[in-house]
Amino acid sequence: MAETARLLPDLDDPVTAPFWKAARAHELRFQKCARCSYVRWPPSPVCPNCLEPGGEWTQMSGTGTIWSFGIYDHVYDPSLRGAIPYNVTLVELDEGPRLITNLVGVELDAIRIGMRVTPVFEAVSDAVTLVKFRPLADGQ
Ligand code: ZN
Repeated sequence: MAETARLLPDLDDPVTAPFWKAARAHELRFQKCARCSYVRWPPSPVCPNCLEPGGEWTQMSGTGTIWSFGIYDHVYDPSLRGAIPYNVTLVELDEGPRLITNLVGVELDAIRIGMRVTPVFEAVSDAVTLVKFRPLADGQ
């Protein structure tokens, strides 16, 4: 059976492109509203809190907490067949936004809600770097 190509982000989307550019530089940047300072995810052309257009791509602190997670042991996406079982984790950054990601560097049965985490950057092609997270060693 032929390997199915993994779906990757659209780097030409003007709304999300700055996120992927930052990830490639190993930086985690989210939009911060110039008017109300709300930090948002996913990217959007206007602030969902006050409707101000734009937003400055601001580097995040780099720490967060596992808000929820699930273990996938069924093949929903053929391109991830070889990764089964894997986790899908919802991380709440210290700045507030929550993003769906994967936790790495930990056994699946050791993942816990409330675990403190920090991003890691995984280049999956010359152009695309994914943002994943790993537990902080000291639990900070
Ligand atoms: Zn705002």
